[in-house]
Amino acid sequence: MLTKLKEIVQEISQIPVLEEALTCVAQRLVEVMQIDCCSVYLADYQEQHFRLVATEGLSADAVGRVAIGFSEGLIGLIGQREEPINVADAQAHPRFKHYPEVKEESYHAFLGTPIIHQRRVLGVISVQQKQRRKFSEQDEALLVTLAVQMALEIANAEARGALQLSESGVKTHKQRSIWGIPGSPGLAIGEGVVPSARAHLRDYVLRKSKKTKREVKEYRAAVVATKQDIAELNERIEGSVPEDVATIFQMYDLLLDANSLGHEVEDKIKEGWDAASALKIVSEDYQHRFSRMSDPYMRERAIDVADLSNRVFLHLVAEKTDFEQVADEVILVADVVSAAMLAEYPAGSLKGIVSLKGATNSHTAILARAMGIPAVMGISDVPLSLFGGRQLVLDGYVGEIKVNPDEGTLEHYKLLVEEEQELEQTIAGYADIEATTQDGCSIELLINAGLSAELDANYLASGDGVGLYRTEIPFMQRERFPSEQEQVELYRQMLTAYPDKTVTMRTLDVGGDKPLPYLNYTEDNPFLGWRGIRVTLDHPEIFIVQVRAMLRASIGYSNLQIMLPMITSLSEVREAKRLISQAYYEVNEDAVKKNQVLNRPKVGVMLEVPAIIYQLHEVAKLVDFFSIGSNDLTQYLLAVDRNNARVSNIYNSYHPSVLRVLVQIAETVSGLDKPITLCGEMASDAGGIVLLLAMGYRKLSVNGQNLAKAKWVVSHMKLARAEQLLADILQKSDPEEVQELLNLELENMGLGGLVRAGK
Ligand code: PEP
Ligand code: MG
Repeated sequence: MLTKLKEIVQEISQIPVLEEALTCVAQRLVEVMQIDCCSVYLADYQEQHFRLVATEGLSADAVGRVAIGFSEGLIGLIGQREEPINVADAQAHPRFKHYPEVKEESYHAFLGTPIIHQRRVLGVISVQQKQRRKFSEQDEALLVTLAVQMALEIANAEARGALQLSESGVKTHKQRSIWGIPGSPGLAIGEGVVPSARAHLRDYVLRKSKKTKREVKEYRAAVVATKQDIAELNERIEGSVPEDVATIFQMYDLLLDANSLGHEVEDKIKEGWDAASALKIVSEDYQHRFSRMSDPYMRERAIDVADLSNRVFLHLVAEKTDFEQVADEVILVADVVSAAMLAEYPAGSLKGIVSLKGATNSHTAILARAMGIPAVMGISDVPLSLFGGRQLVLDGYVGEIKVNPDEGTLEHYKLLVEEEQELEQTIAGYADIEATTQDGCSIELLINAGLSAELDANYLASGDGVGLYRTEIPFMQRERFPSEQEQVELYRQMLTAYPDKTVTMRTLDVGGDKPLPYLNYTEDNPFLGWRGIRVTLDHPEIFIVQVRAMLRASIGYSNLQIMLPMITSLSEVREAKRLISQAYYEVNEDAVKKNQVLNRPKVGVMLEVPAIIYQLHEVAKLVDFFSIGSNDLTQYLLAVDRNNARVSNIYNSYHPSVLRVLVQIAETVSGLDKPITLCGEMASDAGGIVLLLAMGYRKLSVNGQNLAKAKWVVSHMKLARAEQLLADILQKSDPEEVQELLNLELENMGLGGLVRAGK
C-alpha cells in the first residue's frame, strides 16, 4: 500500500496542471481503496469556501462549480476542525448539506480529511461508498497519510499551476507568492532572468573520432578562449566584488590547467573520443565524485566544474559565450547561482537573486549579503523556466517572491523601494557621527568584520573597533588550512589598519553550517556537534597555529583581543587559555630576541550556549570580557535550527525567554566588572538596539552595512523611555506582541521607515 501511495504522490508531482493532478489522485484512490467515489476540494480564502476541483464518482459537471462555504456541510466541518471525519451515513449527519449538482444521493459511507501545509488548510479529500458502513481505521490512516504527502505537492503544484495558467494566457496576471529562505535582506523589483538555455554539454551525445590531433588542437583552442573569457570577467569585476569571486576564477584557471582536467580530457581524446565527448566524460566524472562527497562545500564544487566545462564546450561547438542581453533591472534566477554568474551582469543592473538551491549561509547568500543584493534561497520544486521574463518582486527580509505582482502590490513595493532608498540616504548621513542617545548616553558601536577585506574597509573607519572578526571565512575559501604566515598577513592587515581601535578576533568557529572543505565528516546534528571551540581544542595544532599567527601579527600593537566561540564549560576556557599562553611564550621568545614588543592580548568568551550563562561568576574569573552571540543563543535556547526553513517562523530573538535571558546576563555581568558586547544580528536590528540599550548594554557590534543605521537609531532614542518600554515588553508572553510594541515605539521615535521597510 505504501508503494501505491508513493506512486500516487509521484504521479501528481509530474503533472504540471493542478486540477489534472488531483483528478489523477481521485481516480487512482478509487482503484487502490476499491471505493465508489473520491473527491478533492481546495480552499479559497478570499471567497471563504472549498471548491470541488476533482472527483471520480460525483458528477463531472459539478467540478469547478460547486463551492462549499467554510462553515457549511461536512467538508466545511473538516476544515474547521482540522481533523478527519468518518461516518457510516453522511446523509444522517446533522452537518450534511445537500448539493443537488454533485449527485451524491446514492453514497452513504463518508470519510474525509483535511490537507494541511504549514498549519494552513489547503483543502479536503474525501472518499465515499454506497454502503452504510464506517471506513476502517486502516482506511482512515491511509487517507491521512496521503493527505500529508499531497499537501507539499499541492502547495508546489499550486504555485506551478498558477504560473502555467498565466503562461497559457488564460489568467495573465495572477499574482503568486513563493516562499523561500531569506538569503540577503532588501527589496527588489525586476524582470526574472534565467540564464538562457544555450547548447549544453549535458545534452551532448557522445561521439567517437579518429582525428585525434585535430580534436586535441580544438580542445586546447577552446581552453585558451575560455581562459580569456575568465580573465575578461575577472577584469570587469575587479574591486567591485569580494575576494571569493576572484578565488572561484583562480580555481577555474587551475582546473583548466593541463595538469588537472585538461590532462584527463586529452587522455580521453587519445582513447578515440571527440573533444566534446572527452570533456563530457571527464567533467561528469569529476562532478559525480564531488557531488558524492559528504562535505557540502566540496559538493558545491561540482557546480563549478559543470559551469566551467560548459564554457569550454560552448567554444568547442563554436557558440559565443557573450554576455546575456538582459533587462535593465534583473532578478537573476538559477537552480544554483554561481559566483561567476553574479559577475556577468553590468554593475547596477543586478537587483536581486533567487537561488533555488542553498540556504542562508551558503556561498551565494554570503556573497549576496556582502554585495548588498537582496536574495531568496531554497525554493525547491518550482520550475526555473516559469520565472523567466516575468515581473518579480523579491523581499529578501522575509524570503518571499511575488511572481506577476498585481498593480496594487507593485505600486506598494515601488513605494517601499523608494522609501528604502530615501531611508538609505538619510541613514548614510549618520555614518560618521558619535553614537549618543538623546539623553546623553554614549554607546560604543563596533563592527563585525571578516567577510571580505574590501567591503570591511568601507566601514571600519566609522566604527569604534572590531567587535567580531570572523576568522573562519579565509579558512572556508581555501582548499587547505591557511599557513601560519598566510594567517599572519591577513590578521596584520586588520590590526595595522586600526592601530588605535580594539580588534576582537574570534578563534576558528567552523562546524554547524560552516563546513571546512578539507575536513571531511558528516553529523546528524551538526549544530549540536563538532563546532567552534570543540573542533579547535581537539586539534591544538590548528588552534595554536592560529593563535600564534594572531600574536605574531600583533607584535608592536596593543589592540588584539582573542575571543573563544561556542564555550559550554569552564574546562574549555581553561584549556584554551593554556594553549594561548603556550603560543604567547613561543612568540614572545622570538620577539624578545628581536627586541620587539608583544603585548599579552585580552581573552574573552562568547555567550551563545545557554549552559555557560549559569556559570558567569566562575567564567568571569578566567576571562577579560564577554560577547553575546545572540544568533546562536536564540537557536540553542529555543532549540530551533537557525538554517532550517521549515522552522524559521519560530526562530525569533524577540521570544520573551530570549529577552529574559539577555536581561539576566546584563544584570549578572554588571556586578562582575567585565566589559560585555553583543555581536549577533540583534544588534543590527533597530528594535533590538532599543531593547539592548534599555537592558544596560553599552557596546554593540554590528554588520558594517548596518553601522549608520545603528547610529541613527541610537541618536533618535531616549534611554529613559526605552527602559519603560522594556518593562512593558517583559510583561508580554509572545514574540509577536513584543514586535508589535517595538514597532509602535519605532514609529513614535520617527523611525517608522525602518518598520515599513522591514529592517
Ligand atoms: C552569533 O552566534 O550570534 C554570532 C555572532 O556568531 P555566528 O553568527 O558567526 O555564529
Ligand atoms: Mg555563533
